[in-house]
Amino acid sequence: MTVPFRIVIVGGGTAGWMCAAACSAKLDLSRYDVRLIESDEIGTVGVGEATLPQMKDFNDYLGIDEPEFMAATQASFKLGIEFVDWGSIGSRYIHPFGAFGRPIGEAEFFHYWLRARETAGPLSGYCLPIVAAQQNRFDFPAKDAADPKSAFSYAYHFDAFLYARYLRGWSEARGIKRVEGRIVDVAQHPERGDIASVTLASGEAIAADLFIDCSGFRGLLIEQTLETGIEDWSHWLPCDRAMAVPCDSAGELTPYTRSTAREAGWQWRIPLQHRTGNGYVYASHFLSDDEAASLLLSRLDGAAQAEPRGLRFKACKRRKAWNRNVIAMGLAGGFLEPLESTSIYLVQMAVAFLLTLMPGDPEIDPALAREYNRVMDVEYDRIRDFLILHYRATERDDAEIWRYVRAMAIPDSLTDKIERFRHRGHIREYRDGLFGPASWQAVFIGQGIEPVAQDAMADLMPEAALSERLAKLRSLIAETAVGMPKHADTIARFCPAGGSA
Ligand code: FAD
Repeated sequence: MTVPFRIVIVGGGTAGWMCAAACSAKLDLSRYDVRLIESDEIGTVGVGEATLPQMKDFNDYLGIDEPEFMAATQASFKLGIEFVDWGSIGSRYIHPFGAFGRPIGEAEFFHYWLRARETAGPLSGYCLPIVAAQQNRFDFPAKDAADPKSAFSYAYHFDAFLYARYLRGWSEARGIKRVEGRIVDVAQHPERGDIASVTLASGEAIAADLFIDCSGFRGLLIEQTLETGIEDWSHWLPCDRAMAVPCDSAGELTPYTRSTAREAGWQWRIPLQHRTGNGYVYASHFLSDDEAASLLLSRLDGAAQAEPRGLRFKACKRRKAWNRNVIAMGLAGGFLEPLESTSIYLVQMAVAFLLTLMPGDPEIDPALAREYNRVMDVEYDRIRDFLILHYRATERDDAEIWRYVRAMAIPDSLTDKIERFRHRGHIREYRDGLFGPASWQAVFIGQGIEPVAQDAMADLMPEAALSERLAKLRSLIAETAVGMPKHADTIARFCPAGGSA
């Protein structure tokens, strides 16, 4: 290994600082020289506010103190996402961070519910995080698997700008060097084409062996310099704009994100401790920016705290996330709309794979890039299919966007998945990538895709025994949920932010 191996992270948004924090915690900084360049003049996107449970794993992996992090980022807890008006106008379901039911026989619980669905009540009644979320309750999962409070996990809603700021302080304290400045020029190695150095507006040139491109949508190195290209998925995910605006909090603090399907896309509602984040994600083909802004403002819970901010994007993935000696993370690596809060998760996976495959020699072995790109492709493809399902599985025909998505051709991988589910409710658990069977079950059932029959092994249990088991489980979940504290009380006890940021 050439010591020190020089790494430059370009960009100090959520992606850049997550990468820097992980490097500071997991690399020997006497062997790896890590610096991060960011430009206050350019700023960050700063709108990523809803996360997945893996976010907690990331913070734990770094050794971040949970109450301190939550207070610093105005964070609240998240048990899932509520989808309103997606399957049809008036429909509502929660995609939970937890399992449906508990094992009761040879087959998965879901198949027993399918068998008894005429009398068993809604699937949601068998899922603690859903029942708790509906009552605005939150408590920490129990560690003992026999405890009814054990079968779920949780994520956070937080202020992404404050998270990047928090990670910056955390990383700098552990030896990451931050360089303030705007990159105005990029030099490539004359023969290899690798990036050799970047030059700041001040004239300073910074050379490195590996560059992590976290420069946001512009993809300063991966696209503007290396012209890596994208896989364009906008024909499946036509939303290409968002208007975002924070508003005053109103009503009880909910422990879930809400996504409401609208006339040209959907609206998010993300409750933080000090405010509620809102945004309208829409297809510019079907709605103008002015209309989106005014519709968003007319549908807030409380007074708007700013003017709506417009963002433009395209559903896509970079053809190679790792190209030559550049690895693109965050928005520079691709973008899938925030419907299932997956962007920060993708940054986390990118960072984790990089640490596993971290080169140590400036002559970087191309096999590392091939493996990295393979696993990141799997991550993107799985999320893409899951997002498309939300659009495809709609009965809505009241607006052009819904008529388009319900008729559009979809990837073969998703067609197969839908067909297998329709047949006998089968969802194969995969090893890599999001999402697990409970997530697919929640969206399929929530949006009206029902299997014709259940797993044959679920037929074995006698009918009376099955009804009794289901009734007992329903009441156990209902009782457990009622015993949980209110979300706002858990926050006040555990991680109050104390005033506005
Ligand atoms: P940015 O925040 O854009 O940061 C780019 C950085 O690069 C900045 O520091 C900038 O200064 C620097 N930079 C750029 N050019 C230069 C230059 N020439 N010189 C020096 N520095 C430079 N994710 C979720 O997980 N959950 C959500 O709910 C969610 N909601 C979203 C909603 C919308 C509408 C959008 C667009 C995104 C959302 N995301 C969400 C994604 C999330 O915001 C991003 O994934 C995350 O913030 C990472 O952004 P980033 O760090 O890649 O880029």
